[in-house]
Amino acid sequence: MPTKFFSAAGKFHRGNLHTHSTRSDGILEPEEVCRRYQAEGYDFIALTDHMVGLFDYPITDTSAFRNDRFTTIIGAEMHTGAMENGYLWHILGIGLPLDFTPPNVPNFRAAHGSESGASIAQRARDAGAFVAIAHPHWSGMNEADARSITAAHAVEIYNYGCVVDNDRGEGFFTLEQLLNGDRHLNLIATDDAHFNTPDHFGGWVMVKAIENTPDALLTALKAGEYYSTTGPDIADIRLSKDSVEVDCSAAATIIVQGQGTSMATLHGSSMTTAQLSLERLADSPWIRVTVIDRAGKRAWSNPIWV
Ligand SMILES: [Zn+2]
Ligand SMILES: [Zn+2]
Repeated sequence: MPTKFFSAAGKFHRGNLHTHSTRSDGILEPEEVCRRYQAEGYDFIALTDHMVGLFDYPITDTSAFRNDRFTTIIGAEMHTGAMENGYLWHILGIGLPLDFTPPNVPNFRAAHGSESGASIAQRARDAGAFVAIAHPHWSGMNEADARSITAAHAVEIYNYGCVVDNDRGEGFFTLEQLLNGDRHLNLIATDDAHFNTPDHFGGWVMVKAIENTPDALLTALKAGEYYSTTGPDIADIRLSKDSVEVDCSAAATIIVQGQGTSMATLHGSSMTTAQLSLERLADSPWIRVTVIDRAGKRAWSNPIWV
């Protein structure tokens, strides 16, 4: 059962996988970024500064800011280009080695003839990273672009900074087009925090792991043993042949989505456990679960292949 991690040993660790600092175009030093996330109740972050020549291709070493209640995963937002629209690729590499070879991207302009997005994503995955396609809507990414990133583990379906700053923060459509082409991808919600606008503490992942260490978190991320949220908790998802049961924090709406128009929806009051029929989802090869609370905050399961 792909959702068995919910009830497995370990606990959920709250993390932000997309963050910038003064090592690129963020306005806070790496140490202060880590301090603020820990102060807000996060268990870990990945600092993902922009890997471009302008900033000397940073892969920021945050290991000095780890402590007994907070850890960091080494990462970067990788750029190369271009996508079909002529703009630069934005791809998250989370769990990169500090000596990862950068692409040739002097600045934020797409340099034609530079490495493809597919190539840098594959190099990052081969080097041990969890790879995610960042903010596809804001990037203006088309389906062929997204499909080309065969090394991706996930699509960033919620980028809080993009929600706040350009109202193009969602990537569900891109993810589902790839799912419908039988690509087994997961999803992530992130901040993309630069701290120069109210772009932080809005979207995160909850990763199930035995311990709060970079290795354990990375292993769980690659295995899809996490969910994404802007507030609500998902405690368990249990699948049977004709229904799905969801345990969660108090919800106003629970939705199961599948291919095409297939869906199941339950509206209620302070629901903490619910059963939804899969009757209308019987022909879909995948389903995913969305939990919405009274304030409109949402939590999303990864796609579940049935
Ligand atoms: Zn970006
Ligand atoms: Zn970013």
